[in-house]
Amino acid sequence: MLRSVKNTKTQPNTNADIPVNYELLAELERRASVLEPNAQQLDDLFTKVEEYARQHIANVGKTPAFVDSKDRSVGLLSSPITEAGISLEAVLQLLYDHVDHKGINSGSPRYLGYIPAGGLVHSAFGDFLAAIGGRYAGVFHSAPGAVRMENMLVRWMAEVVGYPKGAGGYLASGGSIANLSGIITAREAHGLRSIDYDRSIVYLTKHTHHCVDKALRIAGMGSCVRRKVGEDGHCRMSGDALEKRITADKAAGLNPWLIVASAGTTNTGMVDPLEDIASIARANNLWLHVDGAYGAFFALCPEGQTVLSGMDKSDSLVLDPHKTLFLPFGTGALLVRDRNVLGSAHGSRGVYMLDMDSDAHELSPAYLSPELSKHFRGLRMWLPLKLLGVAPFRAALSEKIHLARYAYERIQSFDGFQVGSRPDLSIVTYRYVPKRGDANLFNQKLVRNLHADGRVFVSSTRIHSTTVLRLAVGSFRTHLNDIDVSLQILRDHVEELNNS
Ligand SMILES: *Cc1c(COP(=O)(O)O)cnc(C)c1O
Repeated sequence: MLRSVKNTKTQPNTNADIPVNYELLAELERRASVLEPNAQQLDDLFTKVEEYARQHIANVGKTPAFVDSKDRSVGLLSSPITEAGISLEAVLQLLYDHVDHKGINSGSPRYLGYIPAGGLVHSAFGDFLAAIGGRYAGVFHSAPGAVRMENMLVRWMAEVVGYPKGAGGYLASGGSIANLSGIITAREAHGLRSIDYDRSIVYLTKHTHHCVDKALRIAGMGSCVRRKVGEDGHCRMSGDALEKRITADKAAGLNPWLIVASAGTTNTGMVDPLEDIASIARANNLWLHVDGAYGAFFALCPEGQTVLSGMDKSDSLVLDPHKTLFLPFGTGALLVRDRNVLGSAHGSRGVYMLDMDSDAHELSPAYLSPELSKHFRGLRMWLPLKLLGVAPFRAALSEKIHLARYAYERIQSFDGFQVGSRPDLSIVTYRYVPKRGDANLFNQKLVRNLHADGRVFVSSTRIHSTTVLRLAVGSFRTHLNDIDVSLQILRDHVEELNNS
């Protein structure tokens, strides 16, 4: 209930019948005042944080790619959160000792594990400015500039992948959330209700990222049937096998609904045949969602464009700027071919928002995504693109593809090594086959020894019950010499294991 307000004067309270505890307010104000640094404290913050950041940037390429610390950063807990603060020096020391030099150093040029990510320094300044400016990036009415910036980036990405003008999308926190949102959009587009789920079919492969399965479960669609479609001999979805499954499922009275194709799997980096899959999807009226979290940005370079042909014919698409655009963690993107469908899947607003967006010239991320208040993540992407232009990103991605091809040829020439498929993009799979003993065990030991060494970081996976090693080229810092050094370290460890 609203209380009726008798005193509507805007002057300071001089009315003696409203009791004010001046002493208490003054004391609380004094205690909270450190929340606003004074000029000297601000100077101190700028100087010391700058010095720390400069040191970090100067050394990030020279420090190990991986530190397998015995203590696993537990020392951080010896400095608990307390009533009183500690000095900036002490805080930066904690960060240095327990956070910034343990585990994976994703800024290292020799970090070649999983999907390399991050490191673009310009983005850090974008983040800093976004936090300083403090714009509310969810709704156009609140921050027209921030929302226009995000939408401009969405339109740029749509152009990069060849989506039409009517496409829409938003910047998410990462690929998993963007995939979840894409799947929900596909559900709404096909009007699926919960009673339909256990006869609705999702087509994917063994190599599809596990976040798709997770998304189905989060969306309450865990009972949907997953059809692991057969492969073409290079870990790509087979178009023929897909078509046959769809025909058989239709004949059985089921509801073929969604195809999730990968524009570069995390496992092997191979790209599903998107042209074929797109025609099959269209002919059978299925929603085609492409997970391009790792690979879609390779559309920026000619080598990638060829491999990714057909991606533009999908209904929805995920990209991860925090992977192949080298941004810091926390930036994914969803694009949907028809932005109205995205809007109807996510649109919703509260009565307390009625004065927002009565004059909208741009769609607001809040009505296209699960988030309301959101990180102004557009700035960390816009700033480097504006400062540097697109050209260096195209060159870096092209370089990654050529480095992967080079590594593939080199490893193939080494005695005792076997390679997987010629890389579609920038991931090479390989293993060493020892003269005696179990090859899987040998490669598991090899990857453990490489991690203990830490100068280079590669990860392993299993393909058809064979342990293989992966070499994922994805950092803008990785160049030819890093590949040569990494391959030499790999061979040294093989020799050491052979002699042990
Ligand atoms: C990394 C990745 C994801 C998950 O994205 P996050 O940003 O880690 O949440 C999904 N699909 C593919 C192909 C990926 O490489």
